[in-house]
This record gives sequence, structure tokens and C-alpha cells, in this order.
Amino acid sequence: MLKDKIALVTGASRGIGKEIALVLASQGADIILVDINESLLQSAAKEVESRGVKTLIIKADVSNSAEVEKMADQAYQHFGKIDILVNNAGITRDNLILRMKDEEWDQVLSVNLKGVFNCTKAVSRYMIKQRQGKIINIASVIGIAGNAGQSNYAASKAGVIAFTKSAAKEFSSRNINVNAIAPGFIQTDMTDGLKEDVKKQMLERIPLGRLGTSQDIANVVSFLVSPSADYITGQTVVVDGGMVM
Ligand code: NAP
Repeated sequence: MLKDKIALVTGASRGIGKEIALVLASQGADIILVDINESLLQSAAKEVESRGVKTLIIKADVSNSAEVEKMADQAYQHFGKIDILVNNAGITRDNLILRMKDEEWDQVLSVNLKGVFNCTKAVSRYMIKQRQGKIINIASVIGIAGNAGQSNYAASKAGVIAFTKSAAKEFSSRNINVNAIAPGFIQTDMTDGLKEDVKKQMLERIPLGRLGTSQDIANVVSFLVSPSADYITGQTVVVDGGMVM
């Protein structure tokens, strides 16, 4: 379904980003994998190539606008177009508000929110020329419901949801759809570090009775970038087993 499409995925060396790259590749898209972790990027790219598609790996920090400009330029020079952008790279630096350090606030906002702005700005230039594109931003249910100890993360993800709506309005006349996905509690390295009692409490709040998988998120990305979703823009799809409703 995505044959001849070029997709750029940030934070693609592991977790949800890697699974998104694999699922889009399974549908025929060539993949640009972007991450700060170069050795993991190479092994992720090998896995993606085993799906029979081409890949390009680019080491870039999404919070650094100069690196992101270079990234978009390199991707465009290599493939001649960019059809799909998945803004997935994200971090947590959890702390209670009274204990939160400036760096913890700034790092999370820089990667999670400014990173989405940087990549959207750099890649949308090419999409505007092409008069088509699909942008997917990975937000979080925490950006909708909030969470004690995650004020920085919640603010960044709420920002991503508002940014998604603004970008959808700005780019709609150029045939570019911009949507967000708000995952709930997904089993990855990001959540593996949580204490067992916290995980148990989370599980009790999920009506479908299980944690999400990276594939649960990647499947929704693959729908939103497909022609079946051409009339959807500015939306946030919650994928959380019913946790926040
Ligand atoms: P993860 O396993 O920690 O993977 C995140 C990836 O992003 C890592 O490869 C990381 O590189 C990369 N990254 C971090 N900072 C970066 C930067 N500045 N520039 C480029 N790449 C960077 O996380 P995940 O669980 O897959 O999460 C992916 C996205 O889903 C994030 O936006 C997260 O907020 C969101 N999300 C996750 C959950 C969940 O339950 N897991 C729930 C809701 C939303 P390193 O390997 O070097 O760290």
C-alpha cells in the first residue's frame, strides 16, 4: 500500500519508532531512520531492510534545529522526496514540580516539543513543494489527562497536540495532513524502568486489561498515512486500551 513512498521516522533505533519503521516498511515504504544512537540505528536499519525496502540512517538530535535542517536536506537529496514524517523521538525526566530542575524541564520541552517543530518545519518545505504529505506526531495520553511527577512531559505532549491542530490548519491547502497519536501505557524501554507497583496500578486503570505494544501504535500510524485516512487531519487518536476516556 505504501510502495514508492518515502517515510522519515525520528527516534527510530528502538521502541515504538523502530516498530513504526518496520510496519511502514512491510507496506513497501523506503525508510529514513533518524536517532541520536548511531549503533542501534544501524541494527534497526538492517531489520527494516529485511522487509525488502531501502533505508537511509541519519544521526541527528531533533532538538537541534541546525542538525534537523541538515537531516531533511540529506534525506531529500538521497530519495528526491519525503512523503511521510513521523515525529516519534521523545524522552522523560520525571520529577515532582517542587523538585524539578530547570534542566529536566528544558530537556523534555526541547526534545518532545521543539523537536516536533524543528522536524515539521524542515520537512514540510519539501512536502509543500510536492503538494502532498502526511505528518504524524506521537503525543501521549499524559498530554490529555496530566500525571503527577510528569508536568514537563505532560506540558510537552499537550503542546504537541495543539501544534498538530495548528499545523493541520496551516498545511491543509497544500494537501498535507497532520495528525497525532496519543499512546497510553506501552511496553518499551521507556516504561520498563517504572517500579512494579506503579505498573500494577497502571494496569488496573486499563479497561482492556493489558499494556499496549509498539505494534498497537504502529498499526494506527500505518492507517493514518494511508489513502484511507485522506479526509482526517488535525486529530489526536488515543490508543490506550480505554485508559483515558
Ligand atoms: P524509547 O524506547 O525511549 O525510544 C525513544 C527513542 O528516541 C530512542 O531511540 C532515543 O534514543 C530517541 N531519542 C531520544 N532523544 C532524541 C533526540 N533528541 N533526537 C533523536 N532521537 C532521540 O521510547 P518509546 O517508548 O519508544 O517512545 C516513543 C515515543 O512515544 C515518545 O515520543 C514517547 O513520549 C511516546 N510515548 C511512549 C509511551 C510509552 O508508554 N512507551 C506512551 C506514550 C507516548 P536513545 O536510544 O539514544 O535514547
